[in-house]
Amino acid sequence: MEKSYVAACEKGILEDDFPEIKLVKETELCKNCTKIVVGGGNPDADILFVGEAPGRNEDLQGEPFVGAAGKRLGNLLEKVGLSLKDIYIANILKCRPPENRDPSPEEISLHTPWLLKQIEELKPKVICSLGNYATKFFLAGGNVSEMNSQQGITSVHGKPRIVELNGIKIKIIPLFHPAAIIYNQKLIPEWEKDFEIVKGEISQKTLI
Ligand code: URA
Repeated sequence: MEKSYVAACEKGILEDDFPEIKLVKETELCKNCTKIVVGGGNPDADILFVGEAPGRNEDLQGEPFVGAAGKRLGNLLEKVGLSLKDIYIANILKCRPPENRDPSPEEISLHTPWLLKQIEELKPKVICSLGNYATKFFLAGGNVSEMNSQQGITSVHGKPRIVELNGIKIKIIPLFHPAAIIYNQKLIPEWEKDFEIVKGEISQKTLI
């Protein structure tokens, strides 16, 4: 499939004739944000990272993970021999929630159809979900109403799981969110260990 969503987004064309984009543009969150943060990095990468939502810097620049969490993510990738160019990165929400509050279930429902479309086009070998929101969304197979009943990141980090999203099977590896690692440096060795699992998974020839 042509990467039409990804290509359009790279050119800054956020067309209303893509229904999933229109859905986001009609949300209050979108009407009140500075820039929509679609995603960024290498669209041909094997690894897709999915975070929670844009923060203040991301909202101003229209790029994901350009603030403190992004700097930390860059450091963490460097530790495992990668850079932001080796991954594609997006978020559960395309727009910053006021004061960086938690995403509501309704916002997640309205913003994730666009993310699922990106995933369909990017075809990553693995999705690394960063933190609780992205992890619970994927472990729930994209069913927002089932997110609450999923285990939290502390129990599931580093444990690959195959989930079905819109009929497509995909491997998820939950990782701690880089922002959590800023507050708790003790998580760095855990992150490095988890990332060895990610590397092992992407080096396998047969995917699922
Ligand atoms: N935290 C996220 O989850 N995503 C970003 O883009 C920035 C910070």
